[in-house]
Amino acid sequence: MSIKKLPLHWRIMAGMAAGIAAGIALTYVPWGNDFTYNWIKPWGDIFIRMLKMIAIPLILASLVKGISDMKDIVKFKTIGLRTLGWYMLTTLTAIIIGLTLANLIRPGSKISPETVRKLEQNLGSSQAVSRKIETALTQKEQPALQFLVDMVPDNVFKAMSDNRLMLQVIFFAVFLGITMILIPPHKVRTVKSFFDGFNEIILKMVDLIMLFAPWAVFALMTALIVSTGADWGLMKGLLWYALTVVAGLLLMIGFYMLLIKFVAKKDPWWFLKQISPAQLLAFSTSSSAATLPVTMERVEEHVGVDKEVAGFVLPVGATVNMDGTSLYQAVAAVFILEILWPEGLTLTNQLKIVLTALFASIGAAAVPGAGMVMLVIVLDAVGFPPDKLAAGLALIFAIDRPLDMLRTVVNVTGDATVSTLVAKTTGKLHRPKPKEWDDYLDRK
Ligand code: ASP
Repeated sequence: MSIKKLPLHWRIMAGMAAGIAAGIALTYVPWGNDFTYNWIKPWGDIFIRMLKMIAIPLILASLVKGISDMKDIVKFKTIGLRTLGWYMLTTLTAIIIGLTLANLIRPGSKISPETVRKLEQNLGSSQAVSRKIETALTQKEQPALQFLVDMVPDNVFKAMSDNRLMLQVIFFAVFLGITMILIPPHKVRTVKSFFDGFNEIILKMVDLIMLFAPWAVFALMTALIVSTGADWGLMKGLLWYALTVVAGLLLMIGFYMLLIKFVAKKDPWWFLKQISPAQLLAFSTSSSAATLPVTMERVEEHVGVDKEVAGFVLPVGATVNMDGTSLYQAVAAVFILEILWPEGLTLTNQLKIVLTALFASIGAAAVPGAGMVMLVIVLDAVGFPPDKLAAGLALIFAIDRPLDMLRTVVNVTGDATVSTLVAKTTGKLHRPKPKEWDDYLDRK
């Protein structure tokens, strides 16, 4: 046996704290920026690349394995419908919490006109803001059903070579899995055991990559702090807005924990402890897609959700279910309207926010900053004056990264929660059997 080590989440947290401290220290030395860029940041990038490297093979293997394990198509339908039902419910709850808090707290009324002027003049961010608006507008000009067209690959190998096309890979894998159920088992045995073994290997790769996580998180946090050069003055002006988002996100976590306690009948603290490494990675990477392999490993091996359920619910959830993002969109939309277009803050418009935020969070990519792009679509849907769009985004830009980190934690927690609920309600929640990277080696 190896020496009993500190649990992974503590090691990651230590890396995070050390990274923040190093980042702050390095902003005070003249060579800090160059040093971080040349010698520290690459380690974080390598780590994120390694996680992304295994995301597509993992989705393919786990979905094909998960679905083809189901004995019949009816079971797939049950799991599929429950998943969609829970995802809709949690997302709607998130948006309603966001809107309610924004209306109660009214963060827009607590910001001084001077801060608004400063934020609007914040030239540093204007280029990035217009890039986001451009991305959103190209998405908007497409036909309403384009999102369905985009889900179907015209070349599956092309889809597998681009992480942004994750939904296309999911489509292909689900189709492959379902087709396998329709063929007599003895004929597909080899293909099935191939994907089964492949899935095992990839999950072991996650264990190996995670050995490096505390160091990588250190690098990610240092690089983040050194590179953002946060303007604390501006951030303070946005305090009430940020607090509203954070309060909403906390309430959302509370809501998940109630579901875990009363529907899944598990201890919420135990659950949080099991998935905490995935949450910490979501925080440090701001990307649910990059976190997906870890979320899968935690949910399957440490919470005890059957592969059949986790393999389907989590990859779909990473792109489709973003509760943190939709909550943030609701708060941000109300905040921007309040300041720049108060006459637009009507009940009808708030209902429109509910609907568009629901779809916008489905359409948002699982990468840093994607939520802000989709916010443009939400604002557009309520008829927000286009000439004020850039000013609107500039208002919230200064504080977007920290809020992105937090909402990604909620996105990942939501996926993990729903997979546990679906597993519980379909009798697929087992006693967890955690595996370590070296347990085969130890068993000589
Ligand atoms: N960064 C978020 C995610 O990957 C998306 C967003 O809200 O920007 O889940």
